[in-house]
Amino acid sequence: MSASSPLDRRGLLRLGAASSLGFALSPIGAAGPLLARAVARPRFAADPFALGVASGDPDPGGVVLWTRLAPRPLEPGGGLAPERIDVSWELAADEGFSKVVARGTAPASPQLGHSVHVEVDGLAPDRWYWYRFRAGDAESPIGRTRTLPAPDAEVDRLQLAVTSCQNFEQGLFTAYEQMMRDEPDLVLHLGDYIYEYRAGQNGKVRTHQGEEIRSLDDYRIRYGQYRSDPLLHGMHARCPWMVTFDDHEFDNNYADLVSEESGIDPTSFRRRREAAYQAYYEIMPLRTRSMPRGSRIQLYRGASYGRLAELLVLDTRQYRTDQPNGDRPGPIEGAAMDPAGTLLGAEQKRWLKRQLIGSGARWNVLAQQVMMGMVDRRLNGTYSMDQWPGYAHERMELLSFLQDRRIPNPVVLTGDIHTNWANELRVDDRRAEDPVIAPEFVATSLSSGGDGYDVPNRYDELRAKHPGIKFHNGERGYIRCTITDARWRSDFVSVDRVETPGGKCFTRASLVVEAGDPRIQKA
Ligand code: FE
Ligand code: CA
Repeated sequence: MSASSPLDRRGLLRLGAASSLGFALSPIGAAGPLLARAVARPRFAADPFALGVASGDPDPGGVVLWTRLAPRPLEPGGGLAPERIDVSWELAADEGFSKVVARGTAPASPQLGHSVHVEVDGLAPDRWYWYRFRAGDAESPIGRTRTLPAPDAEVDRLQLAVTSCQNFEQGLFTAYEQMMRDEPDLVLHLGDYIYEYRAGQNGKVRTHQGEEIRSLDDYRIRYGQYRSDPLLHGMHARCPWMVTFDDHEFDNNYADLVSEESGIDPTSFRRRREAAYQAYYEIMPLRTRSMPRGSRIQLYRGASYGRLAELLVLDTRQYRTDQPNGDRPGPIEGAAMDPAGTLLGAEQKRWLKRQLIGSGARWNVLAQQVMMGMVDRRLNGTYSMDQWPGYAHERMELLSFLQDRRIPNPVVLTGDIHTNWANELRVDDRRAEDPVIAPEFVATSLSSGGDGYDVPNRYDELRAKHPGIKFHNGERGYIRCTITDARWRSDFVSVDRVETPGGKCFTRASLVVEAGDPRIQKA
């Protein structure tokens, strides 16, 4: 495609709509009206692109290009006056930018933390593009991104990286070095992108700034601190990401608007959630449809990778009922089997079932937060009530649905618990004689927990009790998934240390699932 002005005009129109929403969303009095004239010649005390660039939520015709101006990411306002700055962008078909196919200007407004979200449209499917931004005299690093294949395209291969849980204080983000070398097509981040804790609470390798985060400025600064990490923003610059959050982007183990702590004022907890969700939107390459409205954000969504894979990204925090048993481990009976208990909420569940029924994809991927495998980790008859076993009635309903509707090749991808797992899921995992419905691959933390370990305590006993567990360990890392028509392969990539620099990455385990047979096998 040649440089086309309709494409630019559409980009700008969308941004206009986004901006007026943004003003309504966040009426920061002192900032003045959003559409006030932009700063004519912005000058920056330091590099305004310290947080790098990112792209995300690709579709066959486009992708979101992202940056956020913040010359001083650890200061309120990112070190900028509360004024709008116009940022120009361009996207090219080649790394040298000799074939620019789209360009435009987007506002970086103080109401949205000087973030820029450009929804580029009209691109060719299934190909790489390069992009960059300019503000005043400053130029951003170059990012690389790609569009999805056309929905009906036959695709040879998809490579995904699945990651979660990157506590800044507990470990270095070394595993992203290997992820860059892998050259995935897409990164799925399944939550705990930041941790909300006060400085020094988990300090092993570096320290958060400030107290436990509560205000919009607090959340923005925390994201700024994380995204200043060159490995993190380096990986964002390599390929598009699809992100979803878990609990720590707001508050540990929250359920909808219920705090895990007692005595929390509901109004201030709701305001805190508004701040958390807004800061999340601002820092992520999300589409306008995900712009928060009050304390709600639309995060569950799907994407078709040709006919090869349907990617369904879920949100199991925002709509859930409160954890049974006061969030302590409990049995799979009583409250866990209450039909009113839900992780998905009614609307998301309807949407998920519709997507699954309508999908023509070879692999149907549920990318979500908390473990679905029913595992009695303590070997005392109790299960985590923060995970799917706490919502066992809905879990069994979902697995039965996959079975009864013969959804082709469902695969569950999970984060949250800082350990690697490969689980064979049944309607009720306690009935080992029942058929396997789907494999679940749980990615360990990227850094949370600090240096890991290979063989867990009482692993033999655990496996004896749960024959569905095909792999489990406690190292740091992520999962590299290589998907073809015939086979799904999950490589559990580990890093030998995160508490000191120089960690080495290696593949700890490789497991495969053949299309048509949900059992997990050694590669
Ligand atoms: Fe975590
Ligand atoms: Ca979590």
